[in-house]
Amino acid sequence: MRRQPKKNPAPKGSVQKSTSRNPKRRRAAKRPLIGWAAAAVAGIALICWGALSRQTASGNTATGEAAFEHVRQMVSLGPRPSGSTAHETMQRYIVEQAEAAGWTVEQDRFTASTPNGPVPMNNIIARHPGSSPDARVIILAAHYDTKLFNEFRFLGANDGASGAGLLLALAPVLSQRNYQHAVWLVWLDGEEAFREWTDTDSVYGSRHMAAKLQSEGAVPNIEAFLLVDMIGDRDLGIRRESNSTPWLTDLVWGVARRLGHQRHFLNSTHTISDDHLPFLAAGIPSVDLIDFDYGTAGSYWHNAADTLDKLSPESLQIVGDVLLESVAELDRR
Ligand SMILES: [Zn+2]
Repeated sequence: MRRQPKKNPAPKGSVQKSTSRNPKRRRAAKRPLIGWAAAAVAGIALICWGALSRQTASGNTATGEAAFEHVRQMVSLGPRPSGSTAHETMQRYIVEQAEAAGWTVEQDRFTASTPNGPVPMNNIIARHPGSSPDARVIILAAHYDTKLFNEFRFLGANDGASGAGLLLALAPVLSQRNYQHAVWLVWLDGEEAFREWTDTDSVYGSRHMAAKLQSEGAVPNIEAFLLVDMIGDRDLGIRRESNSTPWLTDLVWGVARRLGHQRHFLNSTHTISDDHLPFLAAGIPSVDLIDFDYGTAGSYWHNAADTLDKLSPESLQIVGDVLLESVAELDRR
């Protein structure tokens, strides 16, 4: 991904979509409370609920630990640029783990034209059906390639493995839930540029998938696209991303606040080019959860310092909790 200069306009579609598809259902109180007793009961209930949800959010560590273990496995394969042997090994790992967790897995292989010539790529799409017969789809996505560097050994613990590992950790949790919506877990290939980041040398997998959804007329079936990238930093601080669909960003940040994670889901904004852009351009409501402040002045980003010791299971747990609750909230809409 790449940080965009401040004033870059959002791609077409994101803003329009957000206003038309965001019927903020804020219900006004229909009648005044009947007295102090009722107010007190409601207040106590709210405090208990708040405490309970915070306790649940911080008390459960299984998802974060599982995600961290998946990241460790991925990093142990070494650099994993698209087309490499380690990248193929990682594909098998993802497919095996997702199938073991009860998902139906499709491997969408294609050949990307890159400045380095044709490169084989593979978007891995795991599907869990919704309970409603006309179920729309909620997509959770991450890229799983690491950027190609010849001059040093780039392990991409955060940039590549963290999001891919978190989706794997969520797979057995999500498959046990009974949502009306279908849920897809998508491991996108070829997010990274082979040389300099341009519109044609970047986000190969997401461009391929968004184009395919468009050609199949499937775009209206997609409720939301939630992207995670670089979310394992032990010093976790995720800003609102300004290309992302406003109502979806608000929904995720509202969930984070409710779970007590406002220290990690910041109210400041940044603008990032990432795998969500092709989906936004296709008219799919999309949000990019990315902590781009990785090391002092981004010093761990795209270099040999992006290693496992910079990550923590706690950060992965926090983002996992927010994703799970965001899916549940989207499912209730
Ligand atoms: Zn990167």
